[in-house]
Amino acid sequence: MLDKLRNIVQAVNSAKDLQSALDIIVTRVREAMDTQVCSVYLLDSDIDCHVLMASEGLNQSAVGHVSLAVGEGLVGLVAKHAEPINLVDAQSHPSYHYLPETGEEDVTSFLGVPIIHHRSVLGVLVVQDRETRSFSEGEEAFLITLSAQLAGVIAHAEATGAVEGTSPSGHKTTNTTFTGVSGATGVAIGQALVVFPPADLSLIPRRKAKNIKKEVKLFNNSLAAVRGDIAALYDRMAGHVPEKERDLFNVYLHMLDDDALGKEVVEQIKLGVWAQGALAYVANEHVRNFEMMDDAYLRERAIDIKDLCSRVLLYLQEKEPVKPTYPRKTILISEELTPAMLADVPKAKLKGLISVKGSGSSHVAILARSMGIPTVMGVVDVPINQLDGKEVIVDGYTGQLISNPTDQLRNRYLDTIKEEGVLVRGLAGIKKLPCETADNHRVHLWVNTGLMSDVLHSLDQGAEGIGLFRTEIPFLLSERFPSEQEQADIYREQLEAFAPMKVTMRTLDVGGDKDLPYFPIEEENPFLGWRGIRVTLDHPEIFTAQIRAMLKASIGLNNLQIMLPMICNVNEVVSSVQLIKKAYRELLQEGLEVEYPPVGVMIELPSAVYQTRVLARMVDFISVGSNDLTQYILGVDRNNPRVAHLYSSFHPAVLQALQFVVTETHKEGKQVSICGEMAGDPGAAVLLIAMGFDVLSMNASMLLKVKSVIRSLTMDVAMDLLEQVMQLDDSQMVRSAVDMTLYNAGVDRLLRTSRTH
Ligand code: PEP
Ligand code: MG
Repeated sequence: MLDKLRNIVQAVNSAKDLQSALDIIVTRVREAMDTQVCSVYLLDSDIDCHVLMASEGLNQSAVGHVSLAVGEGLVGLVAKHAEPINLVDAQSHPSYHYLPETGEEDVTSFLGVPIIHHRSVLGVLVVQDRETRSFSEGEEAFLITLSAQLAGVIAHAEATGAVEGTSPSGHKTTNTTFTGVSGATGVAIGQALVVFPPADLSLIPRRKAKNIKKEVKLFNNSLAAVRGDIAALYDRMAGHVPEKERDLFNVYLHMLDDDALGKEVVEQIKLGVWAQGALAYVANEHVRNFEMMDDAYLRERAIDIKDLCSRVLLYLQEKEPVKPTYPRKTILISEELTPAMLADVPKAKLKGLISVKGSGSSHVAILARSMGIPTVMGVVDVPINQLDGKEVIVDGYTGQLISNPTDQLRNRYLDTIKEEGVLVRGLAGIKKLPCETADNHRVHLWVNTGLMSDVLHSLDQGAEGIGLFRTEIPFLLSERFPSEQEQADIYREQLEAFAPMKVTMRTLDVGGDKDLPYFPIEEENPFLGWRGIRVTLDHPEIFTAQIRAMLKASIGLNNLQIMLPMICNVNEVVSSVQLIKKAYRELLQEGLEVEYPPVGVMIELPSAVYQTRVLARMVDFISVGSNDLTQYILGVDRNNPRVAHLYSSFHPAVLQALQFVVTETHKEGKQVSICGEMAGDPGAAVLLIAMGFDVLSMNASMLLKVKSVIRSLTMDVAMDLLEQVMQLDDSQMVRSAVDMTLYNAGVDRLLRTSRTH
């Protein structure tokens, strides 16, 4: 059974479009289940019908023409209840709806299962028999398993069609919407540009060739280069490996011949596809075909093809650097956006970002927010390669990507962009005003930084201190650990720019999703593994060099605060403080006039929440990292798009924890701040000031927005809201209550719609 299942799924996976996928499904399922009829009905939401999209056993003339209204017939019933229906005598069922065009009058037994993807029913897979047949439980289970596996493939194929402008049954579609989560608020309209990591055949977009002749030449040269490499390898292996194995190289050389793979690629290029896209297309086709083979030896050949074509791809990319020409309004799209990809685009051209992987609290989203670029993360079902070059809209408020927009929708978004412009210009007027509530309660807004550019932007926005300098950012951009002096220079810049205002430097927080290229950490569960303080305490030489650099950098300025990430027990604080004191004594002995800085602990783990009081007693300040705290309290990976909808810092459990941390820290008379993304959400900021946080530290791009909201409310209103919210038991309800309060206070609609945490 498992073999049958695997073969069908593989065959469907290799289909080139939706129709061929469906045709394969009906043929192979009918065969596997030995039934007379197998059909697929898909929902076409443009016409609210389930359309017969493919069938083996029913009249072919009915395919694509016959449909059932939503809820109609047995198919409608299966879809409505999202459950299978298994009947020996279908025609006597009250919901049975006879469709004369299909020729199913003599069909009696019926088994229909829903095709469900991400909770929504895409359609129904049906098998039928002319004999009175009772489909067994095992057969029902087989069809359910198959349908669950095929749903993703069908959804992907449907999405591909939608991007090209057609619904499943061929109707023209517009405003094709793909939903992810917000990475950074704002709206952008521009041209999609797909970027991809080098040497990965599966991620190359199918771009148009600018010059066909040139592309053919480029490909032929790359092919010749690989042929040369393999021939050289063949010679070098003489005497080292048995002749039989050495002959494999000859097989490879044949595959590269002009009348084999090479010919097919050139044919594709001549159709107008650029060389990399043509190669990827041909390679992927062959790989899929080999992977479908029953014979294990032949299946293995898929790996050879992949390897061979990747070698050709490397040469192609070397000759034609991957760096593309960026459109004037670039919407950068990638399977997995990286900070380096963002950095490559000229700032003036970068208008929006889309990442298939990741979520609103991934570090790349944090970076996007600090740059103020509308971003949508975790758009899992989007066929990105088809989007390349197309006009798209990024809605960073709702977390949506829209292709094929109608004029009407485009105009609506253009209005929003204008509205944003007016809002931002209006906010400039409050830069110099203090951050206080309408009844004069002073609130301190600090910023989170990583690069020097953040610092300059922050000062311009009126920041009063740095609540979190992510020291790992310069580490991430380096090719080895920066030396003590290199670090000291980087830190000095930040301290000097802000002096005499405080600069809170967090010790190196790598691991999780922050991997240093020169210090890879491979783990099953990186977020529960070797992260933050756990790494640096295991490497005191790295920790000490960093502390020494910080202390040296602060000489004469003395505005440094040191903060420890990912603390989960008191011993980690004891050990860290010992190392900080040791570094301090060493520097004094070296004759440097260093001053001992305030040291603080981040509360990012539930264990630390419960120990806030004892931790607060041991250090000078507490700062809540609500990004990680939310992840660990809710057990929701901050990077996983599948569960991104569950990630909310407005969850009552998170709010209770935050309030507890504030109360416990204040019992020890210490300062408590919050530096997670929540602090930069204007609505959340109102709750946080009511809880009693002394400092809110956020991305500079959010500072004036938060200030403007705080200035429009009184502390009484904030306290009332908090009291009301603490009685609620669901994050959506909390969000609505906050929105309502902002609405009543006359806060602009664009400030009420942050959804970035
Ligand atoms: C946090 O976890 O909230 C935090 C501020 O740290 P980071 O986002 O860098 O993990
Ligand atoms: Mg953190």
